[in-house]
Amino acid sequence: MRLVLLGPPGAGKGTQASIMCRDYGIAHISTGEMLREAVASGSELGMKVKATLDTGDLVADAIVLEIIKERISRPDCHPGFLLDGFPRTVAQAEGLRALLGDLRKPLTKVVALAVPEDVILQRIALRGAGAGSDRTDDSVEVAAHRLRVYREQTAPLVAYYRSTGDLAEVNGDGSVEGVCDRIKRALVA
Ligand code: AMP
Repeated sequence: MRLVLLGPPGAGKGTQASIMCRDYGIAHISTGEMLREAVASGSELGMKVKATLDTGDLVADAIVLEIIKERISRPDCHPGFLLDGFPRTVAQAEGLRALLGDLRKPLTKVVALAVPEDVILQRIALRGAGAGSDRTDDSVEVAAHRLRVYREQTAPLVAYYRSTGDLAEVNGDGSVEGVCDRIKRALVA
């Protein structure tokens, strides 16, 4: 099974991704996590992307595509994988399509988590109130900027994947278990 999980920041993608990867025995690939690890390790890549991560803007398409290409060639991806936070632009989606086409391993489904904007804004405010993580891009201002970046650059992917016939839209507003259930049902529909 080869999946993409799409959704705005604060939609609960990371949580759902972890559950699905555990239950389906597939690799969890989070470009955000990989980029944060690169920054923490002080690698050349990390130094190149640190400022971008801190502002909440997107890292260049060519960089993330290269990361994905290397990552999905690893053996733990043979049973399948779930892409969490990638693609984030139409150019990345097209790059992914070409890459998977070459490997003759097309996507099984793209799950888009739909969460009302007021719920997202409420979660962002909560994070800012100290309930969040140790992510350096977690301040309210940066989170609001990330939401804007999502709207402008990533939200068009919903229409993109609708047009390719890969899209499954799932209501992402509810309990972790409830949303997880809906995702699983959408995958067999
Ligand atoms: P995330 O953990 O998915 O929210 O990603 C954290 C940050 O990493 C984002 O705000 C971007 O700066 C960067 N990032 C992660 N994935 C991508 C991607 N697919 N394309 C560009 N930048 C990304």
